[in-house]
Amino acid sequence: IYFKCRKAGKSNFVTIRNTKVCGIYERLEYDNRIKTRILKERNRKMQISIKRKIKNWMQLEISAISENEQLARIAVASFITPLNPTLEEMADVKTAVSEAVTNAIIHGYEEQAGTVYIRCRLEGELLEVEVEDKGIGIDNIELAMEPLFTTKSDAERSGMGFSFMEAFMDELEVESTPGEGTLIRMQKEIGYDPWIC
Ligand code: ATP
Ligand code: MG
Repeated sequence: IYFKCRKAGKSNFVTIRNTKVCGIYERLEYDNRIKTRILKERNRKMQISIKRKIKNWMQLEISAISENEQLARIAVASFITPLNPTLEEMADVKTAVSEAVTNAIIHGYEEQAGTVYIRCRLEGELLEVEVEDKGIGIDNIELAMEPLFTTKSDAERSGMGFSFMEAFMDELEVESTPGEGTLIRMQKEIGYDPWIC
């Protein structure tokens, strides 16, 4: 639970935000400034102590079929839920995972049989996600990562997958060997800028 406090006229408002995925908002009004301060302080301490403690990991292997892209995205989203990410952080991570997994299925395995490996690690506020395939690999990584570059221009592809991963995550690394496969490693600090004012 996050508390967002703002001042409107003479009274203080406290918005209590339940960020557990669905994002339910409740608004409570306090006419007493001291009460607001106590809530802010208690929430800050609670948030810091929860995040410091978290050390977690998970691995997921999925069959390289498009239907499983959603499964991977939701699994990673569930994995980071204990950090109480903002809706924006949640959307960023889901988009980046979705792009990487889709690439593994469509380009790596060219929609043929294969396995996509998803590994997540949480250390405090730092999330690391790896998406790996043992598919065809990438000849020229630099070129592949350029915005609008695609090798499937005839289909629905726009060549923006890597650009989204780069924009929505803090770090992006691509390792690939033609004929052996591709490993995408992404990092993002969750809750770096706590939503308390
Ligand atoms: P979009 O993601 O916008 O639908 P796209 O997938 O073509 O289009 P990117 O995700 O940026 O765009 O990928 C660029 C190119 O990099 C792809 O067209 C493909 O040639 C190559 N590529 C990406 N991921 C892989 C992968 N896992 N294996 C092999 N090639 C890949
Ligand atoms: Mg793509």
